[in-house]
Amino acid sequence: MFASPKRRRRGRSKKSQRSARPVLVLLVMILVAGSATVAWLRSERGEIWLAERGVASAQEHCAQLWQSSLLDGLMDAGIPPDSVVVHPGYPVEVEVGASCDLFALNLAVTRRLEAAGGQVAKGERFEDQGSSVLELWLGGKGYVSHRLLARRGPQASALQPPPPPKGLLAIVVDDFGHNLNATVRQLLSLSVPITVAILPERPASLRVLSEARRAGKEAILHMPMEPVAGSSPGPGKLALMVDMSREEVRRRLERALDELSGVQGLNNHMGSEFTQHPGGMEVVAQVLAERGLYFLDSLTSPHSVAYETVRRSHVPALRNDLFLDLDVQDPALIEQRLQRLIERARRKGTAIGIGHPEPATARVLQEILPQLDPRDVKPVFLSEILRSFPQS
Ligand SMILES: [Zn+2]
Repeated sequence: MFASPKRRRRGRSKKSQRSARPVLVLLVMILVAGSATVAWLRSERGEIWLAERGVASAQEHCAQLWQSSLLDGLMDAGIPPDSVVVHPGYPVEVEVGASCDLFALNLAVTRRLEAAGGQVAKGERFEDQGSSVLELWLGGKGYVSHRLLARRGPQASALQPPPPPKGLLAIVVDDFGHNLNATVRQLLSLSVPITVAILPERPASLRVLSEARRAGKEAILHMPMEPVAGSSPGPGKLALMVDMSREEVRRRLERALDELSGVQGLNNHMGSEFTQHPGGMEVVAQVLAERGLYFLDSLTSPHSVAYETVRRSHVPALRNDLFLDLDVQDPALIEQRLQRLIERARRKGTAIGIGHPEPATARVLQEILPQLDPRDVKPVFLSEILRSFPQS
């Protein structure tokens, strides 16, 4: 009789221990499953899975994996390492003087890549100046990270590059990120290199970045900067303003670069005011230097000091030569401007033009650029101009 309340108390506490145990076990299981998922996502297989779903940073990591598979494949095919030249960029270009049958080379590379979880997206065989050429576009499933050019023939043994063109023409199309409409898709599917400049934190910024990668285009951040007073519309989200602290300028720029991870460089969206002030541009230059990115001054103000300021920090920098379609939607006028740029490239060795994702611009670029003779004026990414004309 006396013992019963005690027993009951003991019984109750046992019962509450019993009911707490499953909750605890469940919590531990969730924790274990959670950390296992995180660990898996950080593993190679996880990175590949994320990359296939368009996560730019994962695609960047996986590019290293595809590169080593590609080099292993070349080794398997008996290609000596000194016949292989790797040009960094997006996509990475790998040139090979092939001493073996190109079919065997294709097979060896494809095998290695597929074993690692990647794939060859597109392959083509053609003849060029007496050489047989194999061109492979490869990477993960759904995106391209590398372009392989293997030559076999009279030129292959010396690995001579084709004669240099008279001029390099880099066309940048900016203001991407608002949507993924037919014009945007038309531009991304151009068969020639164009550099795609994407605004941060817009509804389609990340999708355009992912599609640009898939299409093998070079992507840069189109960073909003303050225009001179009275400009309409304003520069929009994340814009760098002259009255901001250096910390705030850095914070905004880093946030934009973190979002569009994997871009190769940056050009200014608007910025006719901001680019006149060396203070803010110094911060931009610092961040670019830390991340190994290049700068293109869109040159929205004749008084811009952006190019000189960035160059002082030893960041590779370029300047826009001509806007193709500013305030113009007439294809004839846009074509005239494009022809002026082509002529400039021929005369001076390089030309850089900026256009926008408008139907008239897309039409003109699609009609003219693929028709250019690459031995005369060659359409290239911005990074190729920097590679061909390195800055001290
Ligand atoms: Zn812009």
